[in-house]
Amino acid sequence: MKIYITRKIPESGINKLKEKGYEIDINPEDKVLSKEELLEALKQKPYDAVLCLLTDKIDGEVFDAAPNAKIFANYAVGYNNIDLDAAREKGVMIGNTPGVLTETVAEYTFTLLLAIAHRVVEADKFTRAGKYEGWAPMLLLGTDLSNKTLGIVGLGRIGSRVASHAVKGFGMKVLYYDVKRNEDFEKEYGAEFRESVEGVMKDADFVSVHVPLLESTKRLINKERFAAMKPTAFFVNTSRGQVVDENALVEALKSKTIKGAAIDVYENEPELAPGLAELDNVIITPHIASATEETRSKMSDLAAENVIAALEGGTPPHLVK
Ligand code: NAD
Repeated sequence: MKIYITRKIPESGINKLKEKGYEIDINPEDKVLSKEELLEALKQKPYDAVLCLLTDKIDGEVFDAAPNAKIFANYAVGYNNIDLDAAREKGVMIGNTPGVLTETVAEYTFTLLLAIAHRVVEADKFTRAGKYEGWAPMLLLGTDLSNKTLGIVGLGRIGSRVASHAVKGFGMKVLYYDVKRNEDFEKEYGAEFRESVEGVMKDADFVSVHVPLLESTKRLINKERFAAMKPTAFFVNTSRGQVVDENALVEALKSKTIKGAAIDVYENEPELAPGLAELDNVIITPHIASATEETRSKMSDLAAENVIAALEGGTPPHLVK
């Protein structure tokens, strides 16, 4: 069996594939392949499976370049980079890596919530710049999370874990909006369901978004929705960049419509919206919410398990339907 891996990933999953005796080719350069490079790479050999990343755009043309491939195993929980209709049409299975990154992304979301509220990045820059002249009562005053209200948009695996940390760790009240209501969660955590995104945004002190990128969630958070937020509130996004109108976010931050934001994902990654990087009231990180040694290895294992199951004639444990 021949496998193509579109970019170097942690070794644990690659070793699982090697143990099966599969022949493995990996993009030798640690960079995203352009569409042409990807097509060319896939045409080198009759690959039986492809392990791809969220930075690879996988469409009908790519499936045609690997006509023997039974599965494209995405090294991510999100799969908005893959044309699922084309996959169905060509009879190709699609795998993803849910669950193993929930804890890490929830922790990272909390890292961003705490860091923006307590002005950690600004304070670090200030201290490094040699501006610290001694303790001062009014220096870099932040905002507490404890006993405030957290608004969650998308109460799935990650959103509900963030909500749990908020309630259990910080005594926060949770409001949420999701297309599916979760009454068990409401009972367990005292969370309050709102009928709309605005319903959450208008009353929350912190808003965190955890929806997948779908046609229905593109630019879900827009100018009007930022305008609904309190001027003292903070916005965090670790889901997908295209869920937020990034120019509207820059405007909301500049005009102080909201107090601050922390974001890990961008509308046109790796490009940033004009003006975003010049603002002090935003923390911007390079799509690293799942980037821990532990989690990236587990994602590598899951992607490999999806490949192995498909090639052994079974159903991948994490098959995207
Ligand atoms: P999940 O499927 O468990 O949860 C998504 C939730 O969003 C579900 O409860 C769903 O009902 C809800 N939803 C769907 N459409 C909605 C809408 N229009 N309005 C409100 N709610 C809606 O997914 P998850 O594992 O929690 O992951 C969420 C997303 O986080 C992923 O799809 C991925 O894009 C993103 N993610 C980002 C990183 C990163 O590195 N920054 C890492 C992991 C995941």
